[in-house]
Amino acid sequence: GERSLVNVPEAIETVLSLIQHKLGTRIGVETAFEGRPEISCTPALLNQVVMNILGNAADAMPEGGAIRVATRSTPDSDVIRISDTGPGIPEDLREKIFEPFFTTKPVGSGTGLGLAIAYSVVQAHSGSLSVEAAPQGGACFVISIPRQDAGA
Ligand code: ADP
Ligand code: MG
Repeated sequence: GERSLVNVPEAIETVLSLIQHKLGTRIGVETAFEGRPEISCTPALLNQVVMNILGNAADAMPEGGAIRVATRSTPDSDVIRISDTGPGIPEDLREKIFEPFFTTKPVGSGTGLGLAIAYSVVQAHSGSLSVEAAPQGGACFVISIPRQDAGA
């Protein structure tokens, strides 16, 4: 898609307000915007990708919990980390979850496409999308986007 200059904190706050109904009062959200505020990307990167990851975090914490969205930048890349305090993702599933149609949700409630779409959008930016264990044991999704004018 077409890239444009996107203000990351603004875009993330917009997505957070769009899924506020899913978070309710049971899930608290903390943001720490330390990265470059504006990055060159397609609007789909921040809208679709962040939305899908945040939706999953909400699904993973039916009893409540916390989501943290943090941005960092290096000279070569911009990184968005989205972590939650849910049950986390077993190590043997950490690659499978990015495959199309992989879901652990009941039939009818999950398509298994959210992370596959997110993965391809990030890949279209020559970036990487991965998951690791959050310090509290939840899931931590890491989106890393190389600066368009950096490197080759
Ligand atoms: P769906 O949400 O339709 O199941 P996704 O591609 O969005 O499909 O996610 C695939 C699977 O990855 C989920 O079914 C779930 O098992 C796992 N998953 C994704 N995010 C999280 C998370 N934050 N915590 C725990 N499991 C997760
Ligand atoms: Mg999903």
